Amino acid sequence: MPQFSNAVIWFRRDLRATHHPALNAAVQHAAAAGGAVLPIFVIDQRLVDPSGVNRIAVLRAAVEALQRSGIPVHVVNGDPVELVPQLARQHNAKVFATEDFGPYGSSRDRAVDTALEQQGQKIHFVDTPYLVPPGTVLKGDGTPFKVFTPFKRVWLNHALPQRPVDTPSPHQVDWVQTRPKKKGGNMSDPGLAALAAVAAPSIPEITETAAWKTIDSFFEHRIDHYTEQRNLPGLDATSRISVYLKYGLVHPRQLLARIDEAINRGSDGAVTFLSELCWREFYADVLFHHPRSARQNYVANLDIEVDSGPNADQRFAAWCEGRTGFPFIDAGMRQLRHEGWMHNRVRMAVASFLVKDLHLPWQRGARWFMQNLIDGDIASNQHGWQWTAGTGTDAAPYFRIFNPITQGKKFDRDGDYIRRWIPELASLPASIIHEPWLVPKQAEQLFDPLHADSARDGYPTPIVNHAAERDESMRRFREVRGR
Ligand code: FAD
Repeated sequence: MPQFSNAVIWFRRDLRATHHPALNAAVQHAAAAGGAVLPIFVIDQRLVDPSGVNRIAVLRAAVEALQRSGIPVHVVNGDPVELVPQLARQHNAKVFATEDFGPYGSSRDRAVDTALEQQGQKIHFVDTPYLVPPGTVLKGDGTPFKVFTPFKRVWLNHALPQRPVDTPSPHQVDWVQTRPKKKGGNMSDPGLAALAAVAAPSIPEITETAAWKTIDSFFEHRIDHYTEQRNLPGLDATSRISVYLKYGLVHPRQLLARIDEAINRGSDGAVTFLSELCWREFYADVLFHHPRSARQNYVANLDIEVDSGPNADQRFAAWCEGRTGFPFIDAGMRQLRHEGWMHNRVRMAVASFLVKDLHLPWQRGARWFMQNLIDGDIASNQHGWQWTAGTGTDAAPYFRIFNPITQGKKFDRDGDYIRRWIPELASLPASIIHEPWLVPKQAEQLFDPLHADSARDGYPTPIVNHAAERDESMRRFREVRGR
């Protein structure tokens, strides 16, 4: 028997059947060696535990979709450091995977590689979830960039010439079958039971087909208005592809031709969209060079005093539940609970509110996001938080503090976003919806005075005074700066 007559393709954040360079390499290896391909997915409890129900539901749906597409993914539950070498040994297979760059993923892969070495093997990494692998874009002196715009300039040179490759249809591949083939019917895999989760009420469909429908609709209807409208959470103006990128149902390389086409016909929105994809890559690059920034401030010496204890816990709970009394903030937090997703502008506002109005550590909010977001991604999330907290790369200076009321007035002028997520305020006019505590005062002119309070229908009054907390934040900031 030739050495490694078969191939293992170890699916992780690349849960798609099209344009899959690592799967291609596995197929080519097996075809050349006269063997077959064993597709595997390992349910690793160390990743499942911090994921939260929404992402577990997404993962499960993505693996099921792969199985339905004709890839007989063999699901195993346990430690990849034991299971991957074991499966490779049992099936006399060479192991292929798309490279992972997060702090946990890369250390896990090193451990798997070490275990494979003991049986004369290694992982063959082909491709990454990015257009440009983290660690590639460097300054002239060989050091990593700390600022986005110059990073983007170099990144564009690496990113743009790429085109996706074809991957054979699953029906043309000789697979190692580990489960009896079922004719039609429900292929639900008992191995996936460990990923059982009751998710948020409204998460999107997680299939490649659904991803492409979302992309088609964005490029058909919204890309040209993206630059002006992407900050308006009341509109459906962004692409909504983050969850598909996170789990690799789509690779960004697959978007380039459409972006190119739109740029060539003069779409400014497409230029902005490409830039947003670059932020995803920039943050992955920053985390690659500074893995500790997943937990610690990227900028040293900014350990600002934070609150703790029962009062802080109560305020944190109010933030999580969307009952801070600030409508723009609460609408965002309720959207997160309902959809497992939140608009980017509102992510910034609620993050700023947690750090600068409630004086809680950004890590606490980031953890809540990771437990609830369907697109929760350690690089984009932790650095999105650090950017807002003023402790990260390209950080807004610490003293630039978002005002939760004027953010709402500016980006949700008509109050449509608030009305969608806070039914208690749905009857309020735009002039007052961002400050519903003013209702009783103005009620005589606006409402039937007998029913003035019912216009807020149990909606809480603000849990903090923004002006006072802003000053307090500045005081704490000056304290660390003076040290
Ligand atoms: P679009 O506006 O259509 O953007 C297209 C794609 O570009 C996104 O899908 C995403 O991959 C990328 N992108 C856009 N903005 C950013 C950004 N600021 N940083 C990194 N990538 C970006 N994004 C995540 O994917 N996962 C997270 O866990 C995450 N956490 C965040 C936490 C905070 C506090 C903040 C401020 C931002 C966070 N973001 C995160 C970035 C951004 O909010 C989301 O990518 C975006 O809202 C996803 O919606 P969309 O696909 O419609 O975005």
